Amino acid sequence: MTAREALLFGGRLLGGGRGREVALILAGACAWPVERLFLEPSRPLEPVAWERYRDNLKKRFAGVPLQYLLGEAGFWSLSLRVDPRVLVPRPETETLVETVLELADGLERPRIADVGTGSGCIGLALAVELPHARIHATDVSADALAVARENAAACGATNVFFHRGDLLAALPDEIKLNFLVSNPPYVATGDLPGLPPEVRAEPRLALDGGGDGLYFYRRLLADGVDRVRPGGLAVLELGFGQGPAVRELARGTPWRPLPFRDDLAGIERVAVFRREP
Ligand code: SAM
Ligand code: GLN
Repeated sequence: MTAREALLFGGRLLGGGRGREVALILAGACAWPVERLFLEPSRPLEPVAWERYRDNLKKRFAGVPLQYLLGEAGFWSLSLRVDPRVLVPRPETETLVETVLELADGLERPRIADVGTGSGCIGLALAVELPHARIHATDVSADALAVARENAAACGATNVFFHRGDLLAALPDEIKLNFLVSNPPYVATGDLPGLPPEVRAEPRLALDGGGDGLYFYRRLLADGVDRVRPGGLAVLELGFGQGPAVRELARGTPWRPLPFRDDLAGIERVAVFRREP
């Protein structure tokens, strides 16, 4: 079996328009740079690579996310290790990172929490952009934290500290924050079964936002009051259409809404609140 024959085989299996994915899966199975498939189309595959390739094509066909099969995902300027222990970082989450960077501009040593860090994507992107910040990344999942720690080591980030536990209770009491940042689980429990297979392959713990999808916003805003310094900010990723309900949750609390941000698709994606004294 040559590289060219294997590509044709994969294209037939997954269907039209997915040549790039097929090439990435094949290159991953062979541990070759993807260009080699096209520069040396007659090169034969090792039998183990062919087996791995067929196995991964079947998994992809069954809806396993491509990034799990490749074991990596691009986010911001980083290439992160991912596997079924963590959510695959999404491009819209880069809007959250951009928002924090803009609001942190000029602050000398901001203390930032990334609550529910998963692969570590948000905390690590902030850590490389803000070398003088102290980033506290938390997750309730020990599995997720293991992946995030590996990613931190691979990025050489030394200003990220990991804590395991339930939301802000994971942080030692003395840590007071300038920024509470989170992409919390925000899918309403009843919507989980209707999600595409790729998303259902991700950890339920990363997705389930309770009956109305707003459980974590309620808790983060309530617990954040004592954790975020007066004048500090909460910057939270939103699910589609959740902006008005999240604005409403903050009514009558010390959190004042600042303009919320849209992602590149024009969807209201990032809630921003300032903690009043
Ligand atoms: N920050 C990552 C990202 O943007 O790709 C992952 C976000 S994922 C939507 C939510 C994360 O919150 C998951 O890693 C999950 O394990 C974590 N999580 C769920 N419940 C939690 C809790 N009670 N306390 C802390 N983390 C929690
Ligand atoms: N963005 C995920 C989705 O595609 C949900 C992640 C989350 O709950 N924060 O549904």
